[in-house]
Amino acid sequence: MSKRISIEVGHGGSDHGATFGDLREKDITLTMSLELMRQLRRHDCEVLISRTTDVNDPAAAFFARATAFNPDVGISVHVNAGGGNGFEAFHQTNELQARSIALCRAIADRVRAAGQVLRNPAVRNVNAFPTPTGQNFVRLMNTVPGPYAYCELGFIDSPSDRARWDATANQRRFATAYARGILEFLGVVWIDEGQSQPSTGITYTIRQGDTMTSIARNHGITLEALVAANPQISNPDLIIPGHVIRIPGAGTAPTRPVAPAVNWETEVNHVANEIVNGRNAGGWGNNPQRRQRLIEHGNRTFGSGQGTRFADVVQARVNVLVR
Ligand SMILES: [Zn+2]
Repeated sequence: MSKRISIEVGHGGSDHGATFGDLREKDITLTMSLELMRQLRRHDCEVLISRTTDVNDPAAAFFARATAFNPDVGISVHVNAGGGNGFEAFHQTNELQARSIALCRAIADRVRAAGQVLRNPAVRNVNAFPTPTGQNFVRLMNTVPGPYAYCELGFIDSPSDRARWDATANQRRFATAYARGILEFLGVVWIDEGQSQPSTGITYTIRQGDTMTSIARNHGITLEALVAANPQISNPDLIIPGHVIRIPGAGTAPTRPVAPAVNWETEVNHVANEIVNGRNAGGWGNNPQRRQRLIEHGNRTFGSGQGTRFADVVQARVNVLVR
């Protein structure tokens, strides 16, 4: 199953973000985000992006969409200003905090490897974000149901930072570092650009009841190809649920699962709006009956096992709508 990533592209349109001379944060964040999206899609990820051109893009509206999108990872792409230098990332402060910190660290490691210095500490509690805008982002980040990283590549008013990324080629290079960090966090194998593709970078986590034969069949590849791509498995008849294996791309059948007839984001919005507007109130009931109905609806619509996640995301969306 492909991973889902939401990208908030900092600022846009009449909101230039931080500026220095001709350099504008909104341009840098757009260049970086488009490259980040390209790299993630190259690794079979599904991407929700807030904007792809220079338009006004209020963050609150996008976070509501990102919440409904139910991403595996969310990221904000920004550039800092105000004295200081180096990369920093802010993490969530809710039940996702530990995973959010791990995500921020994975990105920071790749950014440093790509040549940018890190602030100390590089990964920060978002409550330390001093501005009203920052405080607003605390609330918004915590509504996203997946781990989140709010990234500031560096300071636009720092000459040493600027020298590392005022050229668009370097902005793309650091966006590639973001992509690598995210994919490492998600356990997706990185494929260098132009690398011949006898195997694509898809990984699969073994579930209870799987066999190598069933996994090969479900991915449209031969058993031999699957075994060959996983030399670490000494006995293909003995595979362990929870272990991650590599799915080679040599098959001819499509590797994507068949898309569900109902789109997840559309259904979340539909149900959340019905609840908020009081329509179908008898149908959705009140807590905790509502939660039970949402779980059942999610299981019916998206397959058993999806109900709890669906209920959580709808409730998060409702919370955004009524705030
Ligand atoms: Zn910004």
